[in-house]
Amino acid sequence: MNRRSALICLCSIGLAGLSRGVSAKTNLSSIPIKQHEIAMRAAIGMGSQNASYPFGAVITNASSGTILAKGFNQTFQNPVLHGEMVCINNYVSQEGNKNWGDCVLYTTGEPCPMCMSALIWAGIGGVVYGSSAKSIKQAGIDIFTFSAKDMNQGNSFSQTQLLGGVLEPECNALFINRKRS
Ligand SMILES: [Zn+2]
Repeated sequence: MNRRSALICLCSIGLAGLSRGVSAKTNLSSIPIKQHEIAMRAAIGMGSQNASYPFGAVITNASSGTILAKGFNQTFQNPVLHGEMVCINNYVSQEGNKNWGDCVLYTTGEPCPMCMSALIWAGIGGVVYGSSAKSIKQAGIDIFTFSAKDMNQGNSFSQTQLLGGVLEPECNALFINRKRS
């Protein structure tokens, strides 16, 4: 094999590998930070609709960044309606119970065990949050000590990727400045 054909051979192996990678699961680290920030701004907008508990969430298509569903905390109606749960319900209503592996959920605050479990059971590709559970607690909101990472690692089947700290100062400001009764 001469040098040129060896190079062509290597290129085809590379392309084959790439096409497999693209059709595989969501890879959070390959999404541009700008795309993460646009989605998180939309989640902040949703969170702002509940002045006391500004948890907002959106679900996007990981490749295009298109927002497919939105939600904000509505526990004044039902205790399980955290922002992420409302967003999951809206996604299923609008898009059907499918394509979860191609989706990313963005939320203003680190998901609680209920929401993180629901997202893992759904098989969502990625979860991105702004404020950490520690910051949410500092803003006076009761939270569990199990982190989203604990939930993600506490099973043998989750393929969900996690990323925290996107637009963290803006999300922290949302919780710090919330309405307190
Ligand atoms: Zn929750």
